[in-house]
Amino acid sequence: MVTTIVTIRGDETDEAKIAQAGELLKAGKLVAFPTETVYGLGANALDAQAASKIYSAKGRPSDNPLIVHIADWDALGLIVSEIPAKARMLAEKFWPGPLTMIFPKSSRVPYETTGGLDTVAVRMPGNDIALRLIRAGGGYIAAPSANTSGRPSPTSAQHVKDDLDGKIDMIVDGGEVSIGLESTIVDLSEEEPAILRPGYITRAMLEEVIGEVQVDQALIKDDSNIIPKAPGMKYRHYAPKADLLVVEGRQQDVIGKINELVRDKAEHGLTAGVICTEESRPYYEAEILRVIGSREDENSIARNLFAILREFDSLEVDGIYSESFESPGLGQAIMNRLLKAAGHQVLQVGSGGVSKYSRLLFVSSGNTCVSPMAEGIARKKLEGKGIEILSRGMVVLFPEPLNQKAEAVMIRNGIKPGRHMSCQLSREDLGDGCLVLTVDRKQKEEIQAAYPEQNNVYTLEEYAGCQGLSSPYGGELADYGRCFEQLERMIDKAVRRMEWEGRL
Ligand code: AMP
Ligand code: MG
Repeated sequence: MVTTIVTIRGDETDEAKIAQAGELLKAGKLVAFPTETVYGLGANALDAQAASKIYSAKGRPSDNPLIVHIADWDALGLIVSEIPAKARMLAEKFWPGPLTMIFPKSSRVPYETTGGLDTVAVRMPGNDIALRLIRAGGGYIAAPSANTSGRPSPTSAQHVKDDLDGKIDMIVDGGEVSIGLESTIVDLSEEEPAILRPGYITRAMLEEVIGEVQVDQALIKDDSNIIPKAPGMKYRHYAPKADLLVVEGRQQDVIGKINELVRDKAEHGLTAGVICTEESRPYYEAEILRVIGSREDENSIARNLFAILREFDSLEVDGIYSESFESPGLGQAIMNRLLKAAGHQVLQVGSGGVSKYSRLLFVSSGNTCVSPMAEGIARKKLEGKGIEILSRGMVVLFPEPLNQKAEAVMIRNGIKPGRHMSCQLSREDLGDGCLVLTVDRKQKEEIQAAYPEQNNVYTLEEYAGCQGLSSPYGGELADYGRCFEQLERMIDKAVRRMEWEGRL
């Protein structure tokens, strides 16, 4: 397929171009266009087939619903079965604008558009080109961000072209977007309004209009077991090719630590890039330094974030260190995107900096299967690195040998299990230099409750920044094999994280 690119220039030729794009949309084709947040990939939202095309062009998981874009308030009634009073109040204040609201859907909206849900997300974008195009295209345009799934959202037509050239019918180039982060999503379909995705419209701005607004728990806690209410939020988004690590702490500690880490990487022949601000730029030694914006102007940071993540992909760096941009305002949305891009890898630095880990401790419930397998894998990967590797159980009534299937899988994979006997976790196993990785969340919580002074306790999934560890207990040999592979992948990532944090 040839992707036609039309450029909107603010002259008399625009109308014909928008009409042409509108005709394509009406005919069930895909057209990318600018909104004030990011570029969207549009299709007729009421046409099941057209909506399905979006998923294949983006490689988007089919359970990740689309936002329907409208251009007029009156259009809303046709696609929703109810309009709560609070939605009306928010629309009056923020539409057209970067706010998406979730409503119970009407039968006019196909399940292809809502990812199988009975609710529909709706937004009226605050961008003149978008509004004209929506009207020209029939009034209901499903438009997720116009990127390949998993890549940073596009903030220019060139980004769209980089990802989707040859896969969609048209790109309407309307220049760079003004906000640069996707819309705030608010769920009004339940009793308490809740933010499902932070964006330019902050919680405080919403509360000023409709009173108390909750925040989806999945956004607050970094916990892979809480399922976000916006299905798309569970996926790793915005992932740059290189590892990204966010460094948090006082400004001078962060700069000092990042300089030290970059130097250390260079000594090992690795190239690290740095994301900094106008204010901190003079203090960095790194050769590959990108200024994201100014701390005086959060909007500038939001606008440049995705473009910088994309730029790093073409720079061939081995890793990226970024400052943190936490704030009560737009910083919430910025950090939500940045932490996703980083797979939630955050390094906290205090004035003393960080020291190397002396012990890596895997904890499972019985210490007969998953944690000893993890121990064996880590021993092999970390041989000669000067870090002690152990595994322990939370409930070990008497010592037991390694589970036989786990043993067989380890031997098959070239790991000598040694003479393992399960062992109960005790205070002596812990301490300052110890990194504790638990097999599931329960053990993490129990350790934190019993040893509140212990830092660096994570679930393995959390620390590795990926999901999918399933217990093989009681299963077939193949289940143990699968678990072994999952552990290997996660431990690889965990080791990389320790290296990039300078803790190995
Ligand atoms: P994107 O259009 O790429 O910005 O992604 C749309 C986001 O809206 C995803 O995170 C979806 O999960 C979310 N979303 C769309 N429709 C719904 C819905 N009915 N309920 C909850 N979240 C939704
Ligand atoms: Mg998206």
